[in-house]
Amino acid sequence: MDPVELAVGATTDVGRVREINQDAQLAAPPVLVVADGMGGHHGGEVASRIAVEELERVEAGGSDSRAAAAAVQEALAAAQARIADYAAEQGSKDPVWYAGTTVVAAVLATDDAGPVWVVANLGDSRAYLLTEEGLRRVSVDHSVVQELLDAGRITPAQAAVHPERHVVTRALGGPGVPEPDFFRLPAAPDVRLLLCSDGISGMIDDAAIARVLAEVPDPQDAADRLVAEALEAGGLDNATAVVADVLP
Ligand code: MN
Repeated sequence: MDPVELAVGATTDVGRVREINQDAQLAAPPVLVVADGMGGHHGGEVASRIAVEELERVEAGGSDSRAAAAAVQEALAAAQARIADYAAEQGSKDPVWYAGTTVVAAVLATDDAGPVWVVANLGDSRAYLLTEEGLRRVSVDHSVVQELLDAGRITPAQAAVHPERHVVTRALGGPGVPEPDFFRLPAAPDVRLLLCSDGISGMIDDAAIARVLAEVPDPQDAADRLVAEALEAGGLDNATAVVADVLP
């Protein structure tokens, strides 16, 4: 019995420069995912698809946020193991970082106080929330550039063009157990959730993202528009957006 009904939209595009799309996405309530794969020889595509496949198994619609987070953690660990197996099958001498992927996932759960989004993040794909107060960036990038920003060594303007801006510091496909950040967000009718890859957030700024999310009522149209604007801005990377609205 799920009291919350969602409207979701999802779009991905290879962009204008890359030859293959290594992003993968899932818009299958109660689970939403954007994963941005990394690695040559199709390794990135495989890793992002594995992440989506494992997260698709999470069934969290009726569970509370703690159980949902535990289920997500379990799915990420399973994906990590499969990515390592894949690297070994490919004959990689060093299966760590042969293929990897960022993950930003949102799972709808139900706590005593009502429905909540449980968001997990590894890497530099992002979760944003649009409320009546405006756009809020929920996730904090696990990236070299974010660390430099936090240390006060570069400005946001320098971050946007930094040569290492695509280098992530946490992802699936590395050593050890994945350690995502978790966030718990309200799932209310006046709240819109966006998950996107850096092919969106690296091509258009937060003001443009806020404008599209505020102006385009239908979630599929909003996802389409975000990807279209990223392509118009140059399309230098694979671009993926998943937008979800809670229906009244
Ligand atoms: Mn990317």
